[in-house]
Amino acid sequence: MFCYQCEMSATNGCGSSGQHIGTCGKDENLARLQDIMVFGLKGLSAYREHLNELEPEKTKEIDDVINETLYFTLTNVNFNFDEHISQLMKVGNAGVKVMDYLSEAHTKKFGIPKPVTVSQNRAEGKAILVSGHNLDFLEKLLIATDGKGINIYTHSEMLPAHGYPHLNKFSHLKGNVGKAWFDQTKLFENWSGTIVVNTNCIVPPKKNSSYLRRLYTYKIVGVDGARKIENDNFDKLIAKTLSLPDVSLESEESLTTGHHYKTVLGLAPEILDAISKKQISQFFVVAGCDAPGKGGEYYRELVQKLPKDTVVITSSCGKFRFNDIDLGNVPDTEIPRYLDLGQCNDSNGAVHIALALSEALNIPLNHLPVSIVLSWMEQKAVIILLALFSLGVKNIYLGPKAPQFINDDITNFLVQHFNLHLTSDVDTDLKALLK
Ligand code: SF4
Ligand code: SF4
Repeated sequence: MFCYQCEMSATNGCGSSGQHIGTCGKDENLARLQDIMVFGLKGLSAYREHLNELEPEKTKEIDDVINETLYFTLTNVNFNFDEHISQLMKVGNAGVKVMDYLSEAHTKKFGIPKPVTVSQNRAEGKAILVSGHNLDFLEKLLIATDGKGINIYTHSEMLPAHGYPHLNKFSHLKGNVGKAWFDQTKLFENWSGTIVVNTNCIVPPKKNSSYLRRLYTYKIVGVDGARKIENDNFDKLIAKTLSLPDVSLESEESLTTGHHYKTVLGLAPEILDAISKKQISQFFVVAGCDAPGKGGEYYRELVQKLPKDTVVITSSCGKFRFNDIDLGNVPDTEIPRYLDLGQCNDSNGAVHIALALSEALNIPLNHLPVSIVLSWMEQKAVIILLALFSLGVKNIYLGPKAPQFINDDITNFLVQHFNLHLTSDVDTDLKALLK
């Protein structure tokens, strides 16, 4: 454990010399559970911030959970293990709500996404590359640059923007460039236009990066040397973009996106028919954050090895590990085998699809032919995981490695109560997962 938040702290922090219990009596498990609460709140606060931009009147119940949970972690408030778990479920429940509200707000404002094919790594002309998650920002930018001779390209978690009709209608929203967030340093260096990062995940540029003078940040995002877009005034960004050389990237690649859960639910009759004819045997939710390193290759290998009568449902930036693979349609149907629900905050879509299947097939949620294999990177993934636990979702596989903030006791609790698995190798996991 490590805690140094109060005056009673041991020198250098309780736990820093191997203590398993703090001066106040908080033990290692409670300390870790409180850390997980705070990590979940960090993820929750990111989604709350987007909701606040779109529908501020909906944030009160989320704010109440954030405040109550912070209070819960104050010194000498609660030493009861079960109540720590209940509080974590409360945080998860707020995660379910915020994702649902955000999903509603996005579809209300930008329309229900439609499946689209997006050009990948092809770009031309005066151009702005937009990275992050903020769709509201993108709409404002598209309006401000309309008719200015500037093309807009998405990066990483902005890819799903192309599916929304009210964003897609702008003819200067041209395509996607790059993959998950961590390719920024190399990608941005080779991008001759301007770049805007409007939320996490930004990679701090090296001091000598040539793209620093072309890099803009928005609201909470900041790095030394970049310029900030203030008060939604895009004039300086536009002037800078027009002053730079044309971007010229050639590629024949393409990606598909735009399978929001509301769009997928529209396919329900075809999907149920395919299940009854045994054309679809199983759904795999392969979703979550991506991080640098070889760990993410697991997810590509998994998707590649899935039988053709399975459907892959994805969200978040982990999809860039496998979204270049053409999985085609379920044989003898028009149902695509690859469904991109959208950004990380659209992860609630998998639950909506599972609940609809559960009702239509009259099968309890945890007995459906649906397997969930998640990748986690940062604290938005923590709130998504807590959200799934709060809904009683079990049998989740989590990788590519165990979070450092869970110890053996917490792992055993999660295995016992939620049948959580940590991923091993693809063949072993598939043997267990394929029903
Ligand atoms: S709250 Fe408890 S564990 Fe944390 S620093 Fe104070 S005494 Fe130590
Ligand atoms: S899915 Fe997670 S890791 Fe990926 S860009 Fe979004 S917040 Fe960052």
